Amino acid sequence: MSIKVTEKCIGCKKCVPACPFGVIEMEGKLAIIKEGCTLCGACVPVCPVKAIELKVEKKAGMNIDEYRGVWVFAEQHEGKVQSVGLELLGEGRKLADKLEERLTAVLIGGPEVEKQAEELIHYGADYVLLVTDDRLNNYVTAPYATVLSDLIGRHKPEIVLIGATTTGRDLASRIAARIKTGLTADCTGLDVDVEDRKLLQTRPAFGGNIMATIISPQHRPQMATVRPKVMKKLEKDPSRRGEILKENIKLRAGDMAVKILDIIKDTSVKVNLTEAEIIVSGGRGLGDPKHFALIEALAMTLGGAVGASRATVDAGWISSHHQVGQTGKTVCPKLYIACGISGAIQHLAGMSSSDTIVAINKDPDAPIFKICDYGIVGDLFEVVPKLIQKFKG
Ligand code: FAD
Ligand code: SF4
Ligand code: SF4
Repeated sequence: MSIKVTEKCIGCKKCVPACPFGVIEMEGKLAIIKEGCTLCGACVPVCPVKAIELKVEKKAGMNIDEYRGVWVFAEQHEGKVQSVGLELLGEGRKLADKLEERLTAVLIGGPEVEKQAEELIHYGADYVLLVTDDRLNNYVTAPYATVLSDLIGRHKPEIVLIGATTTGRDLASRIAARIKTGLTADCTGLDVDVEDRKLLQTRPAFGGNIMATIISPQHRPQMATVRPKVMKKLEKDPSRRGEILKENIKLRAGDMAVKILDIIKDTSVKVNLTEAEIIVSGGRGLGDPKHFALIEALAMTLGGAVGASRATVDAGWISSHHQVGQTGKTVCPKLYIACGISGAIQHLAGMSSSDTIVAINKDPDAPIFKICDYGIVGDLFEVVPKLIQKFKG
């Protein structure tokens, strides 16, 4: 991409405040774009004389009409397909149905993953592209990137969805760079414009203060990553029928340069927030790290896990494994109880899709009350012990 101000510029200065990065300056009657331009495009529509040209160079030889169908990378770990892949199949199904296209799951791994292929069909896939090889047992960037990018080159899907996990983030960016297409990371919403087949990729931008919808008009496939628990998987339907297609991909000489010698599990992480059905979260309203004991007590009474706002994590009150939100975990439990959390947009980004949200806050105007199902205006030090007592029954 490139940007320039052409001679059409009349020096009206409208573009100067429109640039969120402050890189447009006036030199006499001409707007000049200085170093630091991110090519965000915000200045283009404000120019009354269309003097700002933002050019998107198409990849040579790319005919976007050749690309059809929706793909989901079915991430597996130790031979087991991860929940995020099934969640993306649920979302992928909706997109494929809107586009009247097929939904394909891509399953890569050691020979033992083959038995998981059927499961992907039960969760919504029409086809499963299966690549098995002993060397693909564990995720390693280079061979996985080779397999997936070669499959993309061979079959030309128009949309590729990948989980925003540690593996997915690594893989998606490598592939996008290799096949020269765009990638929108950490999407919180996906849709398609059926008219022109554009994937509408929505994600928080500018520190979570706005939601931006990003498109990739000139390149295919349109690639997006989505965090676990943002999308919902479909009900498993064992009667669904589909086709499993085995694919052969030749790994390249340099692909196996990295060897996994040993896998050492991090046993320090005792909290699995993303899988918890009940989460009780504490915020700055706790006032002191020792008051997390109250949150733990309620969580334990309900058989749930302990979450936290970033303010408490930043203050060192609790470890970052507990953080819920844009820069923490995205969770979707059946019940989320927010205690002394104001409800900043960055916190909501990680928990607003919970089935039922209960907020306890002494400020009746706290933003959390706008999105909760049940709000208790009160002092958490009075309300939480009463809840514990009640639930212990
Ligand atoms: P506060 O906003 O200080 O709220 C405390 C609340 O407790 C208040 O509403 C108050 O009324 C209430 N209260 C006080 N005493 C009591 C009491 N005794 N009983 C009941 N209620 C009481 N935040 C996240 O949580 N997760 C993220 O992932 C995240 N990512 C971010 C990323 C970026 C780029 C940025 C800029 C910010 C991010 N934040 C995130 C921070 C976010 O903007 C807020 O600052 C943070 O969520 C506030 O935490 P809090 O609600 O605990 O604290
Ligand atoms: Fe500023 Fe974005 Fe325009 Fe670049 S494209 S000059 S960053 S508004
Ligand atoms: Fe020039 Fe357009 Fe900027 Fe006005 S908005 S200063 S015409 S580039």
